[in-house]
Amino acid sequence: MSIDPQKKMDLLVSLCKRRGFIYPGSEIYGGFANSWDYGPYGSQLKKNIRDAWWKRFVECRPDVVGVETPIIMNPKVWEASGHLATFTDPLVDCKRCKKRFRADHVAEAAGREAGSTDLTGLVCPECKGEFTEVRNFNLMLKTYIGVTEDATSVAYLRPETAGGMFVAWKNIRDSLHRRLPIGVAQIGKAFRNEITTGNFIFRTREFDQMEIEYFVKPDQGAAAFERWLADMKSWCEDVLKLKPEHLVYHEIADEDRAFYSTRTIDIEYHYPFGVKELYGLANRTDYDLSRHQDASKEDLRFLDPETNERYIPHVIEPTWGLDRTVLVTLLEHLDIDEAESATGDAEPRMVLRFPPALAPVKAAILPLQKKGGLPEVATALAETLRSHGLATEYDESASIGKRYRRQDEIGTPWCITVDMESLTDQAATIRDRDTMAQERVAIAEIPAWIEAKLRK
Ligand code: ATP
Repeated sequence: MSIDPQKKMDLLVSLCKRRGFIYPGSEIYGGFANSWDYGPYGSQLKKNIRDAWWKRFVECRPDVVGVETPIIMNPKVWEASGHLATFTDPLVDCKRCKKRFRADHVAEAAGREAGSTDLTGLVCPECKGEFTEVRNFNLMLKTYIGVTEDATSVAYLRPETAGGMFVAWKNIRDSLHRRLPIGVAQIGKAFRNEITTGNFIFRTREFDQMEIEYFVKPDQGAAAFERWLADMKSWCEDVLKLKPEHLVYHEIADEDRAFYSTRTIDIEYHYPFGVKELYGLANRTDYDLSRHQDASKEDLRFLDPETNERYIPHVIEPTWGLDRTVLVTLLEHLDIDEAESATGDAEPRMVLRFPPALAPVKAAILPLQKKGGLPEVATALAETLRSHGLATEYDESASIGKRYRRQDEIGTPWCITVDMESLTDQAATIRDRDTMAQERVAIAEIPAWIEAKLRK
């Protein structure tokens, strides 16, 4: 069913709260702008995505290793990387209502070309007041380390995980003794003092990134870029099951790219609030390691064992926002149709058709009655599935229809009903969330049945 985009977003946000995916943060204290709590199903969905990513891009690859580096590093890191000087957003204030805006967002909303900060003639979208001059505002969140709060104790929360990989490069190189290419992967929190937040978990001040710095021989950068582009596409289509037509591969023009980058592609998604960035892929050349080599005075070159040459590797950087991945997984697989309510009115009925491997709950065991020996059989089956590592819920409350509905809303792929016949035929009925097909399967075979489906 086609549904108005804003309505879809509102339904998703309320479903996420009602069913325990994502709640407004600090809610009992009146909330805290753009902070969100991942609830039981949301945190499990996020973990399943994170684990699938790590398995695919780290564990199952011969050329990528993982690291975990601190959120707070020596401030010199951000001086060398250029973040202290240039990691800024162009901001304007309204002189009348005092609201602050991203100048590029105001310009874009007025139909000017993307990235423009030319606001001539434009007024505050809220109160039509006059704007101040455009000023650059650093996005890094500052904190103080130790007991004094002075300039010597200033530190920053990392604005991206990438910095940690560049700084650890020397140790990784020396402890691995591998040939290039060497990919270094990390998943972790990043922080940005974003002014224009909003659109649920799309843009927040605290978010998780999954990033890889892929170090290659300088002449191998362009080919590695192509391979990563294909790998990112496959992740979107084969793992997240996003429809290709919902994605846009936006080649960033020469004049809009960072000066050191020879190629950048933003992978964008058709969100209900517009086509916006999901992931990024950049050829960053030798920029980062050269800057850190100059600033740290350490030799960060790689000694090529074949040619005996020393050079600074080039780096291809594919980057994935984890929270945006959760958001697109929810949006893509939220299916809304209408069903008649108890009062006879049409009301939206929602199903989250997650790829089973990502679903927070794999199976729900539903005894048809609360007595007659059914709960015992059903509980034992739930325990068996859990012992196979399958997240399983047991639910004997409410009518079977209501229980199915609840599992559809949290995206459980298989509901298994245990009925009176189960006591004699030792089998149960498995209902498929998407096809609604029902299949009678021997109870002893159910773990293997689910595992086989999950491998598909
Ligand atoms: P945008 O243009 O949307 O601000 P960006 O170009 O600044 O994003 P990058 O610096 O390339 O983003 O960060 C890499 C990834 O981290 C993005 O593709 C996105 O998935 C994620 N990301 C960046 N900023 C945020 C944020 N404020 N909230 C949630 N995710 C974010």
